[in-house]
Amino acid sequence: MQAGLPPELDALKNTIRQIVQDECYPLEAEFLANPSQEGVDEPGAPRGIAEALSGLLGVLPEASWDRLNKISKDTGIYTSFVPEEYGGGGMGALGHVILDEEVHKSIVQLPTSPVPLMMVGAATPEQEQEYLLPSVEGKLHYAFGQTEPNAGSDPGGMMQTRAVLDGDDWVINGTKTFISGAASSDYILLQAVTDPDKRQRGGITMFIIDNPSPGLSFDSIRLWVNPGKPQQYTVNLDNVRVPQT
Ligand SMILES: Cc1cc2nc3c(=O)[nH]c(=O)nc-3n(C[C@H](O)[C@H](O)[C@H](O)COP(=O)(O)OP(=O)(O)OC[C@H]3O[C@@H](n4cnc5c(N)ncnc54)[C@H](O)[C@@H]3O)c2cc1C
Repeated sequence: MQAGLPPELDALKNTIRQIVQDECYPLEAEFLANPSQEGVDEPGAPRGIAEALSGLLGVLPEASWDRLNKISKDTGIYTSFVPEEYGGGGMGALGHVILDEEVHKSIVQLPTSPVPLMMVGAATPEQEQEYLLPSVEGKLHYAFGQTEPNAGSDPGGMMQTRAVLDGDDWVINGTKTFISGAASSDYILLQAVTDPDKRQRGGITMFIIDNPSPGLSFDSIRLWVNPGKPQQYTVNLDNVRVPQT
């Protein structure tokens, strides 16, 4: 019986831990001394416990983030969890958990690839080139659109957002909510019902929606977990067209 981590993951853990200690911990005092005030005083901004939390949302000079990005990329940590065929380290799901655990030991988080792993094995070769590979490198950022005002814990059973084929396009109508980073994303991986009879048994499809797109709009949501600049959005889809191929 094997106890503990395989040697290569143990080495990965120690490497990340050392870099976080050497490069991120020393920046924490500066980060915490400069809390971001963006959005904190706007009408509707959350109060109470949120105000205490806002002191943990610091600001660092761009040069510091550039340096951390470079370190993460140069050491291979940035893409360590991405499959090798997409240019990553191939450390798999367990490697991903280790990475997450270690980078979250500092409030100054070492940057990692914003790749949507859910596209791996599901995207066409064209979608891999256009969306997946640029995301691996951090050139594109995505948002994930599943939750709806009346479909949270049971998206398969309750989802209302509908996609209907019209000629060569899917036409999507509906509302998503709580979608993190939606307004600033380059594209949204968004689920819609394509066959109401099958629903979660083959009748819900994930679409790639470019942002911006005609008919796509956003309303920000103020949550106490994000007291500063809003991070979550309601996403409105009004006849948004997505090419079938
Ligand atoms: C900060 C934040 C970021 C988010 N980011 C995203 C995002 O990027 N993309 C996205 O798609 N969604 C996102 N969400 C939405 C999140 O996934 C939903 O909030 C979650 O799925 C729960 O849905 P709900 O809020 O509608 O709660 P509900 O489904 O209304 O559930 C409320 C409570 O009832 C319980 N409950 C529900 N059904 C049952 C049942 N049958 N039996 C017993 N108990 C039940 C639940 O466990 C929960 O405690 C985000 C939410 C937050 C707060």
